[in-house]
Amino acid sequence: MPHDLFSLTGRKALVTGANTGIGQAIACALAAQGAEVICAGRRPCTDTVQKITAAGGQAEDMRLDFADPMAARDVFSGAGFDLLINNAGIIRREDSVNYSEADWDAVIDVNQKALFFTCQAFGRELIARGTGGAIVNIASLLSFQGGIRVPAYTASKHAVAGITKSLANEWAPHGITVNAIAPGYIVTNNTEALRNDPARNNAILARIPAGRWGEPSDIGGTAAYLCSKAARYVTGAVINVDGGWLAR
Ligand code: NAP
Repeated sequence: MPHDLFSLTGRKALVTGANTGIGQAIACALAAQGAEVICAGRRPCTDTVQKITAAGGQAEDMRLDFADPMAARDVFSGAGFDLLINNAGIIRREDSVNYSEADWDAVIDVNQKALFFTCQAFGRELIARGTGGAIVNIASLLSFQGGIRVPAYTASKHAVAGITKSLANEWAPHGITVNAIAPGYIVTNNTEALRNDPARNNAILARIPAGRWGEPSDIGGTAAYLCSKAARYVTGAVINVDGGWLAR
């Protein structure tokens, strides 16, 4: 087996929402495999850039706020990107009978609309360049299940799985793989409210065969694999990284 099968040396990646949580872990994992990583966030990704450069990797900070879902329209043109990780996402919890239009639109805009149009801008550039590349979208367990009190999030994450499969079909002839990772319950800001509620925390833990919440680094390695030559014939997959939750 060639020693560089998992290497990302010479590849340039954009990771959205790279200031914290899963996005930070993915940025660090790609950089550890040799990629140059542009860490995009609506807030500075100083901490992530510092972690990567302190470890000898290459990283830069970029402002990208999906309050405008088309914010990435001009990011890729002539910039030499090979890899795109659509990680930025939000969750708004409320009983469905009370769910507001404002919460619905906010979640769909960031998780679904911005994700698609960022893929579109990246795909246009790579197809014109003709060099191929890889997209990894961050989906969720809720791409497969209904969740509780998160109707817009569930709808958006089902859409992420669908967009991933649709683009994989269209762009395979251009050498662009499009895959998604469906994390289970991971220790980040997104799940803080659940972990702070002892009843919910225990109910969740009882359903995870691995017996623990996931760590952001559990997702980072999977993303690095999907960006590597080792995964060059993997496309249209939505990979569960959930400690066995969906298998139970
Ligand atoms: P997180 O710590 O809340 O990270 C979410 C990231 O998205 C942050 O960087 C956040 O920036 C960014 N973001 C939110 N709104 C944005 C906007 N308008 N423009 C640009 N960036 C924006 O939670 P996380 O768990 O790491 O979430 C990362 C991804 O994993 C999300 O897509 C989430 O749905 C998915 N996921 C998480 C879990 C889990 O258990 N944690 C499970 C399944 C899927 P700020 O820090 O500025 O808010």
